[in-house]
Amino acid sequence: MKKILLTLTALVALVSAIAQTKATTDKNTATSFPTLQEEGPKVLVVTAHPDDETGMAAVIYKITHHLNGTVDQCVVTNGEAGYKYSTLGNEYYGLDLTDPAVGRANLPRIRKQELTNAGKIIGMRHIYFLDQKDAHYGLNEREPLDTTWDVLKVTTKLHELLTQERYDFVFCLLPTPETHGGHKAATMLALSAVKSLKVTDRPVILGVTVSSKTDTTHTHFAELKQYEETKVVGDTALYRFDVSTPFGYLNRLNYKVIVNWEIAEHKSQGTMQLAMNQGDYENFWLFALNAQSADGKCRKLFEELKRSPYKELKY
Ligand SMILES: [Zn+2]
Repeated sequence: MKKILLTLTALVALVSAIAQTKATTDKNTATSFPTLQEEGPKVLVVTAHPDDETGMAAVIYKITHHLNGTVDQCVVTNGEAGYKYSTLGNEYYGLDLTDPAVGRANLPRIRKQELTNAGKIIGMRHIYFLDQKDAHYGLNEREPLDTTWDVLKVTTKLHELLTQERYDFVFCLLPTPETHGGHKAATMLALSAVKSLKVTDRPVILGVTVSSKTDTTHTHFAELKQYEETKVVGDTALYRFDVSTPFGYLNRLNYKVIVNWEIAEHKSQGTMQLAMNQGDYENFWLFALNAQSADGKCRKLFEELKRSPYKELKY
């Protein structure tokens, strides 16, 4: 009996020691990753082209890596009209992509792979390709909506994703008058898909722009003329993430590294590569069709995004 008691005592001591070690380890981990939620925000990104997500890459990365969130992307076209600046892409892929016929034939496959690679870097879970035609660059949103896109197919898919996945947020590009017609059209379809849900079932839908600290003019946007659903709250972005927030050894790093990695994957897109290091802020605009509770949810998200998970390194 005495032997059994002794063994039991030893066992209790051992369990206690293990528990203490675990507590110490957890404590150490907790200092580097402050109070993570059980399950983070669930987000759907809706864009016209593979690479439009680069303007929100840092926030997506933070959500998937630091907030334990989930991000999916729905891409309306495969961006085959983006062949004009593929001069270096020609050499990288061994194809004459700047030739319109060669570009249009090969870019859907290439750009899907580029986005898949980029998505891995920022932690994207699923990418849904809706395979609509990317006709050419233009500002007119009616062109894709009335001629080249199967709008019913796109809205049906968006509605299906929104109802099945019950996202917390939808991110899309702000439909400013000067942006690509495809960008405006994709955002308008996302807005109408969200609007078709009961107000209480709607995810918070936000429009995104990128800006720099050195910008001398600032974007002002209230709504896209003739499209009431594009109306935003106020005429400026209510929330933003500072991509240049420093961290790491001697505070020498910032999230531009991630955005640059993401951009680098879109190798067929020559001018996109020149956007490296340029944006300091990812700005998020609140659309007016959101529920009353949307502002509170956004404030909470952007406060959480400010937190750094990295402990100070000293050598
Ligand atoms: Zn685009």
